[in-house]
Amino acid sequence: MDHKYADFAVEKAVELLSVDSPTGFTERAAKWVYDAFSALGFEARITKKGGVLIDLGGEDEDDALLLEAHTDTLGAMVAEIKDNGRLRVAQLGGMRAENGEAENVRVYTRAGKIYEGTLQLINASVHVNGDYGDTKRSFDTTEVVLDEDVGSAEDVRALGVEVGDVVCFDPRTRVTKSGYIKSRFLDDKLSVGILLGLAKYIRDNGAAPKRRVYAHITVYEEVGHGGAGSVPQGVTEAISVDMGCVGEGVQCTEKQVSICVMDSGGPYSYAVVGKLIDAAKREGADYALDVYPHYGSDVEATLDAGNDIRHGLIGSGVYASHGYERSHIEGVYNSLKVLKGYLEI
Ligand SMILES: [Zn+2]
Repeated sequence: MDHKYADFAVEKAVELLSVDSPTGFTERAAKWVYDAFSALGFEARITKKGGVLIDLGGEDEDDALLLEAHTDTLGAMVAEIKDNGRLRVAQLGGMRAENGEAENVRVYTRAGKIYEGTLQLINASVHVNGDYGDTKRSFDTTEVVLDEDVGSAEDVRALGVEVGDVVCFDPRTRVTKSGYIKSRFLDDKLSVGILLGLAKYIRDNGAAPKRRVYAHITVYEEVGHGGAGSVPQGVTEAISVDMGCVGEGVQCTEKQVSICVMDSGGPYSYAVVGKLIDAAKREGADYALDVYPHYGSDVEATLDAGNDIRHGLIGSGVYASHGYERSHIEGVYNSLKVLKGYLEI
């Protein structure tokens, strides 16, 4: 596979990363995904739940393969407008206050206004607060400081900000000359880019997989039920394309594709994992096998929903997951190689 498909995947991921989409607030990102696959000539539709289902073509409709990646991300929601005009927020998905502290945010009101602010420790000046270093960070000890002249709850409400408004953290996306990709929410927008890279490869080469192949870009993965619906008739296997774990005790690096053997939801299908390993070997992909200690995936939600399928999980290695994440274009390339091998195209 030409390296240009990895370049394309990263380019598309960077575009998608600029569209704010915390879980539950994904309409614009889903529209972007719909447009991106449609532009490559594939039939896509927005599901009732708000995800995007794409038909990537292929023959055998009775032994179809479903690839799943998610475009929802972590974020926060306004939980309380305080008397002093600051906002207490509640996490969306597994967002951590330790990681969001001092990050710029955008607050989206229901009327469509967007206000800037920052998540700060309460009483954040080190020259004033003697407990700065000892305070445990949580969403009760941090708050959003709006960059507006607000000194009371009435001032904030006058802007149109209300409980339930969505708080989006700046992804701070950067691609370095050395090929590293740094951003919040590479989990899992990098994988959406990878599936777009695969779609472009299929289109450019007129590739016809033996099996029918569908992609489902889900929108509630971070709260556990993203992959629970919209499984087309005839699907016998589902593979999550989601971030691979990088850290102490796991083998994968950011430059590799991770093939997950087991996570918190138990073992992946022995048969599917075996075929993923075979595909990696055939395509010369640099891969690592890993057991993830704290992880759940879309395809486990697909199984939990009662679907009779075999399941697997692969993804480009991502360090500092659910924080300021880092991956590498070679991890993207290796992921594409495994998918190409699995589809036998
Ligand atoms: Zn994910």
